[in-house]
Amino acid sequence: MTTVTVAASKKYDVIIGGGLLADAGQYIADVVSCRKAALVSDDTVFSLYGGTLQKSLALSGIEPITFIFPHGEYSKSLSVYGTLLGAMCDGGLSVSDAVIALGGGVAGDLAGFAAATYRRGTAFIQIPTTLLAAVDSSVGGKTGINLERGKNQAGAFYQPSLVLCDTDTLKTLPEREYKNGCAEIIKYAMIGGYGLFEELFDLPAHVQYEDVIAKCVAIKRDIVEKDERDTGIRRLLNFGHTVGHAIEVCSRYTVPHGEAVAVGMAVITSAAVRFGICSADVERALYEALGKYSLPRKTAFSAEVLAAAAMNDKKIRGDRLTLIVPEAIGRCAMTDIPKVELAEWLRAGGLK
Ligand code: NAD
Ligand code: MG
Repeated sequence: MTTVTVAASKKYDVIIGGGLLADAGQYIADVVSCRKAALVSDDTVFSLYGGTLQKSLALSGIEPITFIFPHGEYSKSLSVYGTLLGAMCDGGLSVSDAVIALGGGVAGDLAGFAAATYRRGTAFIQIPTTLLAAVDSSVGGKTGINLERGKNQAGAFYQPSLVLCDTDTLKTLPEREYKNGCAEIIKYAMIGGYGLFEELFDLPAHVQYEDVIAKCVAIKRDIVEKDERDTGIRRLLNFGHTVGHAIEVCSRYTVPHGEAVAVGMAVITSAAVRFGICSADVERALYEALGKYSLPRKTAFSAEVLAAAAMNDKKIRGDRLTLIVPEAIGRCAMTDIPKVELAEWLRAGGLK
């Protein structure tokens, strides 16, 4: 078992290890004295792990108000959010109780936003069950839902009181979800240190989950503690994401997030080599890592098409955008460019 402590506006532990779910009630009782807890999970995850969590909560005297939603991004919606708040009211959840997210980033973002806003804030516990949620969405306090007009258009920064990552739950993850998580792990290896990049070559991530997740969480912790509200250094976490989001949009979301981010990292790194910002060794090593995890580094979309799609990115302010550019393995810089120069970067990165 490994614990990473995050000292953001709220201080909390991220506990990572096998077999934690069966003791979740006790871990939760140690940080929140609650009588009830809203247990928020999708149908797939609940059928796999809901029973174990309910049993453990009962042993600690916590009564669950169970809320199960259909799996998938569409449930991160205003209507599901409204139904969840209603269920919390009907179940008699008080402000001294808690909301528990059991699942991937969808459960975490939805339950977190409900926790942030229910009677102006109830304690929130994250139990991530996807690799992406373990290394990314469960830590750092971003919560929210999608509106018809776009992703994450309503949200709040709201840190959890505890993140409990039971690595045994990741054993049932479909291959596609594993790859999504691996792309984010490679992103952390490129922006942070802790010898993560080398580690990904020694053994596959899935045979050393505890260590790899702890290192990713430590890298995210270091960044979030310096810039909790995403106005500066936290943008490093967007490495590969400007191009990645554009690929997702252009493919009408048929290219999964992780694969899109993988291509985004590859293109920007190749451009960085052409512009003399990093050595060809960095590009070679990244390509090798992506290959090892069966992640792509090419796309058929042209530089013009992707640059045009990227102009709608909500991270763009005015006529400039911040690109995250590698200088070495484990070190990236934030480079401010006029947004009209993005297409040139993408061509330098090998796109037509
Ligand atoms: P998800 O929550 O939809 O999970 C993906 C799929 O895996 C679902 O179908 C789910 O039922 C299934 N699943 C989950 N755990 C499983 C398990 N252990 N075994 C078998 N199946 C399992 O998606 P995700 O990829 O975890 O998260 C994506 C969401 O996270 C997006 O909405 C994204 O915007 C958000 N996100 C948020 C942050 C943040 O900082 N808040 C960061 C990154 C992404
Ligand atoms: Mg991402």
